[in-house]
Amino acid sequence: MFSKSKLKDKFALVTWNRGLHLFRSHNVLSVAKDGDLIRGPVRSATNAQVTYLSVIEVIDDEIFTRCTCPVARYCKHAVAVGNEFLESQDTAADDKEVEQWLTSLKKAENGVAARKKVIVYLLEYKKSK
Ligand SMILES: [Zn+2]
Repeated sequence: MFSKSKLKDKFALVTWNRGLHLFRSHNVLSVAKDGDLIRGPVRSATNAQVTYLSVIEVIDDEIFTRCTCPVARYCKHAVAVGNEFLESQDTAADDKEVEQWLTSLKKAENGVAARKKVIVYLLEYKKSK
C-alpha cells in the first residue's frame, strides 16, 4: 500500500518539505498511475523552462523513486508527485496521522489530569499545615 507516512519515511525532512512546497505551488503538471508506477512531470523549482519526469514505484511494500533531475533518487520531485497522487486519490487522513493526533489529544488530557493532581496535593498540603 502506498501512503503518505510510508512515502515520508523515505525522504530526509528537508527534501520532503521542498517537495511539499513544489506540490503546493502547483509544479506537478500531471500525475498518472500505471500498475505499480506513479509518475508525473514536475516543473523545476529554479527554472520554469525545465521539467523533470519523476517516477515512484511500489515493490513489495517498498517505495522506490527515480527522476530525470540531477539528484535522480528520492528527490523533492518524487515527493511532489507522490503528494499530487495522494491528493488526486482524495484519500482520507493517513492512519498514522490520525494516530498521532489521537496520541497528542491523550497527552493533553494526561497533562490536565496531572495538573489537577498537583492542585489537590497543594490544597491538602496547605490544609495539613
Ligand atoms: Zn527529481
